[in-house]
Amino acid sequence: MAHGLLTIDCGAVVRNWRRLCEIHAGGAVAAVVKANAYGLGAAPIATALRDAGCRHFFVATVDEGEALRKVLDDGPMIAVLDGFRAGRHPRLTPVLNSLEQIEAHAGQVILHVDSGMSRLGLPVDELEALARDPGRLAHLETLFVMTHLAAAEDVRHPLNAAQLARFNEACLRLPRARRSIANSSGIFLGPRFASELARPGAALYGINPTPGRPNPMEPVFTLAGQVLQLRDIPAGQTVGYGGAWLATRPSRIATLGLGYADGIPRAVEGKLQGRYRGQSFPMVGRVSMDLMTFDVTDLPGLRPGRWVELIHSGQDVDAVAEMAGTIGYEILTSLGRRYRREYLPA
Ligand SMILES: *Cc1c(COP(=O)(O)O)cnc(C)c1O
Repeated sequence: MAHGLLTIDCGAVVRNWRRLCEIHAGGAVAAVVKANAYGLGAAPIATALRDAGCRHFFVATVDEGEALRKVLDDGPMIAVLDGFRAGRHPRLTPVLNSLEQIEAHAGQVILHVDSGMSRLGLPVDELEALARDPGRLAHLETLFVMTHLAAAEDVRHPLNAAQLARFNEACLRLPRARRSIANSSGIFLGPRFASELARPGAALYGINPTPGRPNPMEPVFTLAGQVLQLRDIPAGQTVGYGGAWLATRPSRIATLGLGYADGIPRAVEGKLQGRYRGQSFPMVGRVSMDLMTFDVTDLPGLRPGRWVELIHSGQDVDAVAEMAGTIGYEILTSLGRRYRREYLPA
């Protein structure tokens, strides 16, 4: 029996996608479902989005792509960001990152232009070679030319405009094709960053694409842990590893069956709150591998077997990430396999 429960609202994911479609006026909106939809479950989420009309999906690897193809019917595009060896996976669309890959592949592809990320994508010199000899693309059906923004979550970052300028220039020199630019945050950079296909991931899952401003997205999941045991301790007794928390009054401690092996960062110590029936109470002591402890002295009614919420609309994934000095993406993708995942239908 899992002691962690993720309740994922596919309807909220679909509403977030529709919201992004409205904001990204004029172009289509894909769904990035790499890393098992950022940990929440690619199969149910992609199915709900497909049923809502999403026609383009992005994954990171061939394994993710093949698994998703089994779930989705033949219709939607499934693009593999890391690419794959030519000829191997006819039902997936490779993202091509080099001249060598361009030469090796045939058929439908996405070309990736490096406009300043310096990670994947065609570098400047290879773009020059293509611009001089566009015939080198003649054997391909280029579905999209894409680029990826490095700092879209910071509206004032000079890289945004610089990357857009470099990408637009590259597109002028390549054969005409539809373009794909914005990730989640890029959609909120305004119409200049709109393209024929936006590629949001994080915003679909409720992570704030506009950090520092109110979150325009709806939260899509709650994370709860089950109470394993309750115990009463006297004042002066410590709780957990290192004796890190000292009871200054007679206290009731609830132990939950979740820990850092379930993706709860140790760095939330002293900051995270539990919530039961709308009432909040502090986590105390260290996060163990599989256990966490809470001071529920002021909370009558909690029993072993009950579920305490740790991530919810009032303490969302961005807030928990902030406590741990990281980003919501890392929290989500670290949750791991031990949770029971329950899906509310769209
Ligand atoms: C992960 C990824 C995205 C999605 O980014 P979010 O910030 O989660 O919206 C889009 N494009 C590429 C190339 C990616 O690697």
